[in-house]
Amino acid sequence: MKFIFVYGGVMSGVGKGIVASSIANILSHHDFNVTCIKIDPYINCDAGTMRPTEHGEVFVTYDGGETDQDIGNYERFMNKDISKLNNITTGQIYKKVIEDERAGKYLGNTVEFIPHIPNEIIRRILNSSRGHDIIVIEIGGTIGDFENIPFLFAAKKMELTYGKENVIHVLVTYLPIPPNLGEMKTKPTQHAIMKLNSYGIEPDFIITRSERELDDARKEKIAKYSNVQFSHIVPSPNLKTIYEVPIKLEEKFMGNMIIDQFKLQKREIKWGKWIDLVKNIKNPQKNVDVAIVGKYIDTGSFTLYDSYISVKEALVHAGAHLNIGVNIHWINSKDIEKNPSVLNELKKMNGIIVPGGFGASGVEGMIMTIKFARENDIPYLGLCYGMQLAMIEFARDVLGWDAHTTEIKQTKYPVIDILPEQKELLKGNKYGGTMRLGEYVAALTRGTMIFNLYKNSHRIENDSKRIDEYRKTAQFRVGITKDDDVLVLEKHRHRYEVNPKFIDDFVKAGVKISGIHRRKDGINLVEFIELPKNKFFVGTQAHPELKSRLEDPSPLFMGFVKACSE
Ligand code: GLN
Repeated sequence: MKFIFVYGGVMSGVGKGIVASSIANILSHHDFNVTCIKIDPYINCDAGTMRPTEHGEVFVTYDGGETDQDIGNYERFMNKDISKLNNITTGQIYKKVIEDERAGKYLGNTVEFIPHIPNEIIRRILNSSRGHDIIVIEIGGTIGDFENIPFLFAAKKMELTYGKENVIHVLVTYLPIPPNLGEMKTKPTQHAIMKLNSYGIEPDFIITRSERELDDARKEKIAKYSNVQFSHIVPSPNLKTIYEVPIKLEEKFMGNMIIDQFKLQKREIKWGKWIDLVKNIKNPQKNVDVAIVGKYIDTGSFTLYDSYISVKEALVHAGAHLNIGVNIHWINSKDIEKNPSVLNELKKMNGIIVPGGFGASGVEGMIMTIKFARENDIPYLGLCYGMQLAMIEFARDVLGWDAHTTEIKQTKYPVIDILPEQKELLKGNKYGGTMRLGEYVAALTRGTMIFNLYKNSHRIENDSKRIDEYRKTAQFRVGITKDDDVLVLEKHRHRYEVNPKFIDDFVKAGVKISGIHRRKDGINLVEFIELPKNKFFVGTQAHPELKSRLEDPSPLFMGFVKACSE
C-alpha cells in the first residue's frame, strides 16, 4: 500500500480538500484502487453536532456516519462510496485509548501521548486502507495547529515504518497577492515548509494555491528554499470550476510524478466522460436560474454557502450531464418572513429548492416559498425538511388543517411526527438513537414520475448490489416485500417522518406517494412524494444530493434541472 499525506500550510480554506480529491481522482483515472481519509483535529467524535454555518454541511456516509464535508468531495471526485471509518477525529482517538486503558488492555503500562496516540491513529489509517493500492490522507486545519501534532507524528512514523518509497508528503500552501503590492508573496509558504520540517517531514510536492498562476521565478525560489525539485512545485491557480483541478494538475504530470516516486507500473490515464463534463460546466448550452431557500445562509456579516454544498454540487452535476448551467440564487428564508416581498424574486426563477434543516427558525419563510412554488407551478424540489414542510403547506392550504411538525409545535394535525419508539428514547434524552442515518431502501411506485426518473438512470442496477449485501446482513433498514421490485437506496439524516395516520387523506387530496420504506414492524415511511397536477413538484425524505457525483448525477436532480429548462 502507498500513502499520500496532504497537509495545509499558511491558512485553511484554500482548497486543500479539493487538491486531495483531485490527486485521488487522477490516480483513480490511472486505474489504481484509491481511497481517501480525512483527519479532523477537533475533539468532537463526529461532525453530527456541529453548527453548519460554522463548519459547513454534515456529510452522511452510506453506513450512517455524520462526517466532515470533505468526505463529500472525495465521493464527488472519485465516484465511490467512502465509509464513516475514513473520517478520523481526535475525539475518536482519545476515546478509544481511554476505553482500552479502562479495559486493562495496556497491561500495566503507562499510557502516554507518545506512542499510544499516534499508534491508534496509524491503526485506524491502516484499517481504512485495506484493499486499496493508494490511500490519500488529508490532515485538517494547518500544520501549525497544536491539535495536529499527534497526526504529524503518525505520518512521520509511517514514513519510517514503510519507507520513503511508500509514503509521499504533499504540502498545499497559499500565495497571497496583497492588493497594495500587486505581487505574489512566497514568504508564508517558506514558513509553512519550515514548520513541516520541524516535525521531520520533508514535502515531496508543494501545491501552490493562488488567484493567478505561479511564475517560474517564484517557483524557483520555493524549490530552492524547500529542497524540493522544481517540477514538484505544482501551481494550482483558481479555476472556473473545481472539477477542472484534476485536469490542470494532470497537465503538469501530477499523476506520473506520484507513480514514479512510488515506483509503480505506469498505466495510461482514462478520463472517461470527465473532460466533456467539465467542458459542459464551463460553457453550457443554456442557463437556468434556481433559488435555494434555506435557513443556514447567514453567519455574522458574512454569507456562507457551505451548509448546502452537496445541493449546490448536485445541481452542477445534473447541469453538466444536460449541458445546462445552473445559476444559484441563495435566499435566506428568515428574510422572507421579515419581508414577504422577497418572494417576488422567486418569480424570476426557473426552479426552487428547499433543502434540509432543523428547528423552528426560518420555517414559515420556507413554507411561504413552497406555497409560492406550488401555486405558480414553478418546478420544486424539497429535500428532507423541504418535503416535510411541503406536506405541512399542502395540509394547511389544500386540506385546511392546522398542521405542523411536532419538531416545532403540537397541533391538532401533526402531519410530521416522531415514531412512538423514538418518543420513548427522547424522554430519556437519548437524541443520538432517534435519527434515521445513512442509506435506507425505498420501494418505488410504478408509473410515478419519480419511478421513471430512477428507472432511466442506472441507479436501480447500481443500488441492487448493496441491497443484496444488506439483505444478507439482515439489517433492520431493509424491509422489502416480494412485490417490491424497484428498489433504490438514498441517504438519510432526520428524526421526523410523515405521520402514517394522515397518508390516506393526502392521497385523496392529490398527493402521490411515489416511494416508501417498509419497516419490519409494518409501518410504511414516506420516502418520495409528487404532485401530479404540477409540472414538477417533488419531495423526498432522503438527501439525494449526498449521492450525486459528477460522473453519476442524482436522478431527482436530473429531473429537476430538466424541468427548470423547460
Ligand atoms: N428536522 C427534520 C427532521 O429531523 C428534517 C431534517 C433534515 O432536513 N435533515 O426530521
